[in-house]
Amino acid sequence: MRVPALKTCPYCAANLGSVEIGGRDRLACPTCDFVHWNNPKPVTATVIQHDGGIVLVRRKFEPFVDDWCLPGGFIEATEHPAESAAREVFEETGLEVQVSRLLDAAAPGRGINVVILFYEAIPTGGQLIAGDDASEVGSFKQHELPSNIAFDLHRQVIHRWFESFSRQSRI
Ligand SMILES: [Zn+2]
Repeated sequence: MRVPALKTCPYCAANLGSVEIGGRDRLACPTCDFVHWNNPKPVTATVIQHDGGIVLVRRKFEPFVDDWCLPGGFIEATEHPAESAAREVFEETGLEVQVSRLLDAAAPGRGINVVILFYEAIPTGGQLIAGDDASEVGSFKQHELPSNIAFDLHRQVIHRWFESFSRQSRI
């Protein structure tokens, strides 16, 4: 997520200044103890095994509107990441799933301050129906994958899943 730089303290509204802490420049409040650590936000993206392929959702909103991607999203406060992955899958695809394993963790870089946890999951119920964030949802085998898949990291994990992860699958 690209966000503008923080200028004022969210607690006392004083102007933040740059302070070196532990070898890095941080924005810190001169009045109270607030430090803007600027840590990445964790998000999930899930590869759902489905009919020998995987489930992708077609994006209804920017960025990359109309492109396809793995279902996922931001983790809510106090939510376990695997629980969040299953919730996002249900909201976006209508499928109830059991998360089977963590496939990878990666950061896109280029100023996008997130860490993506890639999970694998298997459907346990529900019906494939596009949720509010998706214009379409579909199940794709490797040779059926759409050419317009958003996000480099999603493309890489999907490719690796078909090439190797799916063959190591314990399910
Ligand atoms: Zn402050």
